[in-house]
This record gives sequence, structure tokens and C-alpha cells, in this order.
Amino acid sequence: MSRDLPGLTLDELATELDSRQRAVEVLKWLGSLKELPAELPLLMPGVSHRVWSTFRQQHGVSRLRVSERSVSEDGTTKYAVDVGGATVETVRIPAKGRSTICISSQAGCTRRCVFCATKELGFIRQLKAEEMVAQYLLARAEAPASAPARNVVFMGMGEPMDNLDEVLRAVEVLTQGPFPQLRQQSVTVSTSGVLPGMVRFLEESKASLALSLNATTDEVRARVMPQNKTWPIGALLEALREAAAVDPDRDTFVEYVLFKDVNDTDDDADRLVALLAGLPARVNLIPYNPFPGTGLETPGPERVKAFHARVARQGQLCLIRWPRGREIAAACGQLVLAQDGGPGFLPAAVALS
Ligand code: SAH
Repeated sequence: MSRDLPGLTLDELATELDSRQRAVEVLKWLGSLKELPAELPLLMPGVSHRVWSTFRQQHGVSRLRVSERSVSEDGTTKYAVDVGGATVETVRIPAKGRSTICISSQAGCTRRCVFCATKELGFIRQLKAEEMVAQYLLARAEAPASAPARNVVFMGMGEPMDNLDEVLRAVEVLTQGPFPQLRQQSVTVSTSGVLPGMVRFLEESKASLALSLNATTDEVRARVMPQNKTWPIGALLEALREAAAVDPDRDTFVEYVLFKDVNDTDDDADRLVALLAGLPARVNLIPYNPFPGTGLETPGPERVKAFHARVARQGQLCLIRWPRGREIAAACGQLVLAQDGGPGFLPAAVALS
């Protein structure tokens, strides 16, 4: 099976081109582009014509078409990206000195979290690694020089652990030199808590992990995340503890979407601290971005601040992720359906670092 260039690792490129130096030249060329071309060029500097023309016959480019681009006041830009028959979303979130690119790992999603707009789409298909890397490349091309694209979060559409081979490959490519050469800590894979995939990820990757916890009791979590019946809170946190013992340097985040009167009480704050005791994890509190039909509501800002203060006061690292790009429906859980007149769509306007 031939993969498009953005999905190939340096080692694979070196094998195909019969030289590591040639592979490095190709990656340098990729890094020099403003955007991906429609097809590979006829000539590649540093690679012999014979070798390159053979490569060119076997590999495409994975250039993705942006069917819609929405920019919010704070500069957050949401791209509706055509991946051949399906649309996924990529978001570029500028911050001081660097931008975070939020990418999708599936068209639609294999999971059914009640509060997430992507579930409305159902599952359409898995994305290939090259389609994930190409999302990064297209958003990177538009990042301002003052805020280059240094971070990637897998928080767009999809459950990364349900497409793990391709996600691991994309992480490897994104972090390899000479390009894109992102730091392992700067790439964060976010999971709804698919335990077997999460365990394998922790064993095989050094990238950062975010676990979407979203509740402090199994009863409440199962209500908003039905898969909790299969992989409950205790098992998920135990896996994080074991991984932290092996690799204490990994950055681990716990995502906690706040729903009014469901998981935002003082008792929840105290239970959250107790659950995470001894785990070197940072909590990101995300006020729920509402969409119709869920029966869930957003707590007021005072409640969000009180919850945060109660957690932080007990020594747990904790940040509030106020929504960004809300007016363009680019905040968490909202990335999808806006263009079809649907509920408005999905990813995580969550810059993690
Ligand atoms: N499937 C992965 C990645 C996609 S969701 C996961 O679940 O982690 C990315 C983040 O957005 C998760 O932390 C999720 O809990 C959060 N999220 C989903 N829908 C949301 C909504 N409507 N409001 C706020 N956050 C939401």
C-alpha cells in the first residue's frame, strides 16, 4: 500500500529513497512550503531524477481542500476540511508567541458522549496519518510569524484511541526531524478514556496525554459518557498512575467539562482532588459549550471560578479554559455540523500549554 508523503516516517522515506540524506532533503523541502502542492514536483533538489521519479509514481501528497474558513475575533480560525467525501474540522488557536493546531483523527466519531456535537454525525471513517499531518500543515501555513504553529492537540473530531495505529504514526511524523520536529510534550493526544488504547499509547508514545474525565462518580460519568460502563473512572486513573510511575516526565492533563448542577458542586471539586491525589496531572476545567438537545447547561462564571478555587486551594494544579472562538462554533464539542444547518460543531478550543 502506498502512503502519501505526509504520512511517511523518516525511516520509511530513507528506505524508499535509498538514502537518509535524500529523505532529510525531502523533509526540508516539505518544511519550506507555504502550502502543499497538488502533486509532487518533477524534480526534488538533492534527490536523483531516477530515484525521485520512481517515488513520485507511488506516492501522492494528501493536499486537503478547505471548504470553509471561519475566523473569530480572537483570531481562532476554524477550517472545514474536505477529506474526500467527508468533512472534518481543524482549528488554529493563536496565543502569545505560538499557535496550537487542533486536529481531527476521525470523520465523525466512534464514541457517543452525550455532550459532544460530533456524535450527531455518527462514525463516518478513520483518517489516515497523512490526513492528520496534512491538517497540521495547512493550518501551520496560515499561522502568523509572531505565533508559529508549535503545538498540536488531537482534540478535533474523533476518538484517537479508536484509530491508534494511524494516530501513533502521525505523532511520530509530527515529532521527527528535520521537519516538523515538534517537541513530544507539544503534541497532546486526548482520549475519552478508551482504556486498552490509552494503555498502549502510554507504552508506545512519549507525547502528552489528556484524559477527558468529566465527572467524579461512575454514575454521573456513565450518564454523559456511556462507555464508562466498560472503562470506569478507577480503572482509567489506575492506568495513569502506573504510567506515571514508569515515565514521570510525561505531561498528563485531565479534562473536566463543567455541566451545571451535574458535576460542578463543591463535593465534585473535593472528589476530583481526592481522585487525582498523587497523580502528576494538571486539570483543565472547560465550561460546557452548549448545543441543543442534550439537556445539559453551562454553569455561570461565578460557579466555574468557585469550582476552580476550591480545587486549586487543595493543591491540585488546575486551569480554567474559557471558550475561544465560540461565535464560530469552534469551541470543544462544537466542531461539526454548522455548515449543514445542524447544531453547530466541534473541537476543543483548548490550548494546553
Ligand atoms: N475524543 C477525544 C478528543 C475529542 S473531544 C476526547 O474525548 O478527549 C476534545 C475535548 O472536548 C474533550 O476533553 C471533551 O470532553 C471536550 N468536549 C466535547 N464536547 C464538549 C462541549 N460541548 N463543551 C465543552 N467541551 C467539550
